Amino acid sequence: MNRAIWWIRRDLRLADNQALHAALDHADHVLPVFILDPRLLNSDYCGDKRVTFLFDGLRRMDADLRQIGSSLKIRKGYPPDILARLADESGATAVFAEEDFSPYARRRDEQVAKAVPLHLYGGLTVHHPDMVLKQDGEPYTVFTPFSKSWRSLPLPVDADLLPSPTSLGREIELPSLPLPAASDELALFSAGEEEGLRRLRHFTTGANPVVYLYGKRRNQPHVEGTSGLSPYLRFGMVSMRQVVVKALAAVKQAEDEGGRESANTWLNELIWREFFLSILYHYPRVRQRSFRPQYEQIEWRDDKQAFEAWCRGRTGYPMVDAAMRQLSESGWMHNRCRMVTASFLVKDLLINWRWGERWFMQQLVDGDPAANNGGWQWTAGTGTDAAPYFRIFNPVLQSKKFDPNGEYIRRWLPELTSVPESYIHEPWKMPADIQRQSNCVIDVDYPAPMVDHRAARERTMAAYQLSTRGD
Ligand code: FAD
Repeated sequence: MNRAIWWIRRDLRLADNQALHAALDHADHVLPVFILDPRLLNSDYCGDKRVTFLFDGLRRMDADLRQIGSSLKIRKGYPPDILARLADESGATAVFAEEDFSPYARRRDEQVAKAVPLHLYGGLTVHHPDMVLKQDGEPYTVFTPFSKSWRSLPLPVDADLLPSPTSLGREIELPSLPLPAASDELALFSAGEEEGLRRLRHFTTGANPVVYLYGKRRNQPHVEGTSGLSPYLRFGMVSMRQVVVKALAAVKQAEDEGGRESANTWLNELIWREFFLSILYHYPRVRQRSFRPQYEQIEWRDDKQAFEAWCRGRTGYPMVDAAMRQLSESGWMHNRCRMVTASFLVKDLLINWRWGERWFMQQLVDGDPAANNGGWQWTAGTGTDAAPYFRIFNPVLQSKKFDPNGEYIRRWLPELTSVPESYIHEPWKMPADIQRQSNCVIDVDYPAPMVDHRAARERTMAAYQLSTRGD
């Protein structure tokens, strides 16, 4: 085989790229292509911030390719047609790509395979979802046994990681669409493989790597306690193998039990990512429906105004509002806050988790169909390995526990900057004179709580109980 197409999708990296490596094994000249797919870009589950990050990533990818005498070709349209045309134009005889597990990706790839010879390779996960199965061949639907089985399979070591190629052969000259100019919108994340690897090194290596404090810090939204790698994993700017190799090394090299436990907890979170990808692969219906059918009966409140208040961070509960503002301003939200805000929408407002799932996908830079759906169904109690529905987060207690001094709240809610610490979690309890002194008059500068948590809790318990009656 002389020429091949490397079809880039969620693998915007040169290092440890199994699909690219295979293409280079099979062909002398490899054409790197990214297809802007209108079905994805115009979907209700797409969002500007993620697209900006993706486009930035494509520009970096193009720059990296130019360093080795190649360049990225951008096309737009229906992938089977585009790839068939590109194969004709370039003389390529096959297409190489990293396997993706979402229902849309799988349907699309089936159509592509009818149009051109398509070879799919691993990389999105360490273990293919078909490899982590129960003894009877059925998929796991509970995390702990999944993770045990995942850990018992051969795990990657440094020597498995593939180097970046030094050339993709002779440049195949073909026209390419331009990408929109770079934007500085996403201050928090600059795209690209180099930045992804820098973050990975920073988190796991060096004198005092953060990974050893993960156990203590991962639930504190106001400190740098997590890796911030999710957008890079979302678009494959780092490979899952690269990350897992570092996590395993951190476990091995820990100097004390606390450090080892922390690194192991981090590895566990990475396994959660593979767990939810496996759930989506084996149960694609979760994209549309509750995993547990009985929860399809819940009578959700169709309250657009309440939903809007939640989206805009105007619920009157400071931790919920701070988190929702962090999301819409930065495109990211701390995991603890994702659980608190999701719980608030579903359990305090009794609004369908699918509305929240869609809003998160529209806002998150790391928005991923598997992890997002998994996180929402987990919080709503409708999913596979879910928190029981009667476990309902109290937004005030969560705030007091995880942001005790209100640093996170003040960072994202400027209207609460001068509220005294003793009222920061429940500003509506401030006497009128303190409200005035702190420039935060309730219902004028900041809303009163939109629901009473205790009453909302009762309402939700009743709605869930009704839906499961007769089970
Ligand atoms: P770290 O704590 O450093 O973890 C390392 C990596 O492990 C993450 O980058 C991520 O890839 C993976 N990971 C960590 N926690 C989880 C988890 N609970 N489930 C799956 N993977 C995990 N994560 C996404 O990547 N995309 C999403 O769209 C997404 N939506 C979520 C929605 C809800 C309602 C909830 C509760 C969680 C969601 N998560 C999602 C999981 C988690 O919140 C983020 O992965 C995490 O906050 C990213 O920050 P980090 O990279 O610093 O994570």
